[in-house]
Amino acid sequence: MEFPITELLDHKGSVEWIIEHFHPDGPKCPGCEAPVAEARIFRTTQRSQLTTYRCQLCQTPYNLYSGTVFQQHHLRPQQVVLLMRGICKGESTQMLAQELQLNYKTVLDLRHAIQTQTEQQQPDSPLPDTHTETDEMFQNAGEKR
Ligand SMILES: [Zn+2]
Repeated sequence: MEFPITELLDHKGSVEWIIEHFHPDGPKCPGCEAPVAEARIFRTTQRSQLTTYRCQLCQTPYNLYSGTVFQQHHLRPQQVVLLMRGICKGESTQMLAQELQLNYKTVLDLRHAIQTQTEQQQPDSPLPDTHTETDEMFQNAGEKR
């Protein structure tokens, strides 16, 4: 039996979660680092239902996934939240792909990317290790600083 799990989370709440965890200082332009307040809303993507911003200073378009492992993928925010949750809970790639209605390879690629990033522990990582919950979530995926 498959549960429509992505529909149980609301879009707005998922977007807020992503901002809190991936952009703790608020979304900003990947080109010139101007805050999102300096951008205008460019469009909403059809597949992921994400707002695309365009920086008014350097004209770079970006969205919530820019600079994160999710930037080349077209996941909805709900799928991102549940994918992170599943990976942190150690759920199998196959089960996650089924639950979230994602391609197996997409889930596998993202899992590897998240693990690599966690292992590297870059100081400007979009997945900050200063957040307690995030620390807990990633403790199995890589070595702590
Ligand atoms: Zn800019």
